[in-house]
Amino acid sequence: MDCVYVDAMLGWLARMLRILFGISAVYKTELEDSELVTTECLVITRDRELFRRRRGPTILLATEDHVKWIAAFLRLGLKPFEKSACPLCGGQLLEVPCTEAEKAVGHRVLSHVCWRCSSCGRYYWVGSHWRRLLQLVQDAEKTVIQCRGIG
Ligand SMILES: [Zn+2]
Repeated sequence: MDCVYVDAMLGWLARMLRILFGISAVYKTELEDSELVTTECLVITRDRELFRRRRGPTILLATEDHVKWIAAFLRLGLKPFEKSACPLCGGQLLEVPCTEAEKAVGHRVLSHVCWRCSSCGRYYWVGSHWRRLLQLVQDAEKTVIQCRGIG
């Protein structure tokens, strides 16, 4: 999944695809429908009309349940936490000494591992947010979903 477009209203999912699976998902609310219709990238949408008009690979999310969304990507064989991209911009995360992160953010960082986004420069570390991600993945792993292939 090198080339993934996430439809409007799915910003949360775009951030999760980046941080959990390292997918540099493109999320732009200003993406034109015509671009979403014709692109050969994978398009993820909740819009049945767009789904119907698509010719390339498409995932239609038929539920609002966010845990089920993640469950669907686990079922597609994506492995969580093997690599991460910056949740905000999709840039590559580079491991850096946590002393560098502490200096940049101006407070102590209680983590053994820290990253800097090579694109926007934001720092990340293992904190409470990370534990919520773990919980999300655990919940998704326990969730039974139905996937229907079309065409
Ligand atoms: Zn970034």
